[in-house]
Order: sequence, then C-alpha cells, then structure tokens
Amino acid sequence: MNTATAQKAQIPDIAGQITYAMRTMGVAPIPRNYELFYEAYIGSNPALSRDLAALGNRATQEELDAISSQHSLHHQTKAIETAHTKIIGELDGLLRLLKQEQTSLDSYNRLLGETYNRITNKNNNSADLLRNAITLLSEATDDTMAHGEKTVESVVRKSQEMDQVRRELDEYKRIANTDSLTRLANRRAFDERLIAIYDTPITLAVTGLVVIDIDHFKRINDTYGHPVGDKILATVASVIRGSLRKDVFVARIGGEEFAVIIDGNTEEEVMQQCERLRRGLEATPFKNSKTGVNYGPVTISLGICMASAASDPGELYSKADIALYSAKNAGRNRSMVFEDGMTKDFQKSWLIYKR
Ligand code: GH3
Ligand code: MG
Ligand code: MG
Repeated sequence: MNTATAQKAQIPDIAGQITYAMRTMGVAPIPRNYELFYEAYIGSNPALSRDLAALGNRATQEELDAISSQHSLHHQTKAIETAHTKIIGELDGLLRLLKQEQTSLDSYNRLLGETYNRITNKNNNSADLLRNAITLLSEATDDTMAHGEKTVESVVRKSQEMDQVRRELDEYKRIANTDSLTRLANRRAFDERLIAIYDTPITLAVTGLVVIDIDHFKRINDTYGHPVGDKILATVASVIRGSLRKDVFVARIGGEEFAVIIDGNTEEEVMQQCERLRRGLEATPFKNSKTGVNYGPVTISLGICMASAASDPGELYSKADIALYSAKNAGRNRSMVFEDGMTKDFQKSWLIYKR
C-alpha cells in the first residue's frame, strides 16, 4: 500500500461506520434512525448511547423510536418545522395585505382620474358638481388613509411576530449546537466548523486543529463514580475554554474528548497555547471543599495538526487524532504535533459505551 492509500484508510468514515452499525442491527435505513445512530456515535448523550447499546444486535422500530422520543431527539426538528409553517403563514398574510392595499390604492387612483375628468369636462362645471366632487374625494381620501394606517399596523404586527419566530429559531439552533453538560459547542457544531476550514484555503497554514482527551478518565469514574466524573468533565471544559482566546473555537466532541480550532497562529504558536493549557489544567486543584477529597491532578493529552498538512476535513481530524494517540503512547500529559510516519493501529469503536 502506498502512503496515500494508507493515509486514506486511516480517515474515519463516520457515515460508513454508522451505516454499518445500522445494517448489523437490521435497522431500516431511514433518516430518523440515522439521526439516532449519529447521536450515539458522537457520544454527546451517554444515556442514549447506553440505551441503544442495551438493545443488543436486533432492534425493532418501536424500540428505536422509544429511545428517540425518550431523549427528545426529534423535538427540535418538529419545532423547526412548526416555526417554518408559522413563517410561511405570516408571509402569506403579509402578501395578501399588501395586495389589498394595492387594490385600494388602485380604486383611489381611478376615482381621482374620474373626478378629474368630470371637473375638466366643460359641459359639467357647475358649482354643485365641484362641491360633490370635493366631498367624494375627501371621503375617499379619509378611507384610503385609514386603510393605509391599518395596513401599516398589520405589517408592523406581522413583522414583530416573524422576528419572534426568528429569535425562537436562533435559540433552537443554539441548543442544537450546544453540549448540555459543558455548555461548549457539541460534535454537530464541530463537524460544521471543521468542514468550513477548507472554504478559505489562504488561511490553512495558520489554522490548527487540536484534539484533546482526558488521561485515565475511566479511573476517575471507577474511583469516585460517574456524577463526580461529570463534574470534573465540566471543570476541565471550563479550564480549556478559559485558557484560550475568545475567538478560538472549543467543542466537546465525545465523552471526555474535546476539539479546539485555532485561527491565525503558526504551528509553534498553537503548540505554545496547547502547552500553556495543559500545564494550567495540571496545576488546577480538583478538591471537594466539603469532604476535602482531592480528585486531581487531572491531565490531558493533545494532538495537533495544521490544516495545511491535510487536504480535507476528514484527513485533518484523522491526523490530529493520530498525534493524540502518539501523545498517549508517549506517556500522556503532553502535546504532540502530527508528523509523517505517525500511525494509529486501531479504529475507534463506533459505540464508545458498547463493551
Ligand atoms: P486514556 O488516557 O487512554 O484516554 O484513558 P481513559 O480511561 O480516559 O480511556 P478512554 O478515553 O478510552 O475512556 C474514556 C472514559 O470516559 C470512558 C467513559 O467511562 C468515560 N466517559 C465518557 N463520557 C463520559 C461522561 O459524559 N461522563 C462521565 N462521567 N464519564 C464519561
Ligand atoms: Mg477518550
Ligand atoms: Mg481518555
């Protein structure tokens, strides 16, 4: 196998792995099942992953739908559909209103034309006719103005309603892209951000991807229990977030894995930021103030790859992940940059909770 083929073989084919898992479990290849398996794959909801793994090698559609609804998987899709229908309804109403307004202005215009013709008709220029015409015009003007004011009110009301729907949609989008435990961006947001890197080829040399994994986290869970594990995870997340610039993208991409995308820095600068973060976390106290138990030190390993060292998002992620694996192999609690020749001899299991 040449190096190009070898490299390709290491790129994680997420869609392929999900489809494979679905096929193995005899699951119908429909979008809502794919969504469920995707959530399980990215591991952002451990309870969902566990419930799915508990179904074993066969699952009925009812069982899958029960898990989806239990974990509110399709609620956001439904909310977005509702908002969409609402906006279409408002726009329809607005269009009808503007059409009515136009019809009313057209008749007013016609009336003006007819009155003008009557007044200018030499055979008809009596004072009575002029008076009638003025009365008629003034009533029509009042009507038209009242109608116009009503239209303005309705347009203002409708645009306020649409603004409200837009805000709700923004909120749904924020929730859909946020990890509930750590408040960081989630895997879905990360995937989008990762793909977007290659939209601006000019900055690839100063864009770095960092993949981070907590060291021996299983031990922490085993020693102190899952709820303490969750608290430590949230603290690690806030230390990572807090030690990087505001414009740096930080996401929780799996159970105890994070990803960072740094723009505008060379490889050396990215490495410096990683080391500062790593040392900062190592020095962070993890002491329970009530019991005095010290959970720390908590350490992380970091894998770095600059976007210019890969030709697409999949390859970039794979190389940063290989660098992380090398950091783990070299003894953990360190940052390593991807180098040619680094390899990883296993593919991650698609269901991290399936054991
Ligand atoms: P390594 O240094 O090789 O990374 O060792 P590790 O023990 O961290 O190994 P690994 O990354 O394979 O295991 C991660 C463990 O993290 C498995 C799981 O029990 C735990 N974990 C994953 N997600 C969560 C979570 O949301 N909450 C808690 N409490 N634990 C989690
Ligand atoms: Mg891990
Ligand atoms: Mg780990």
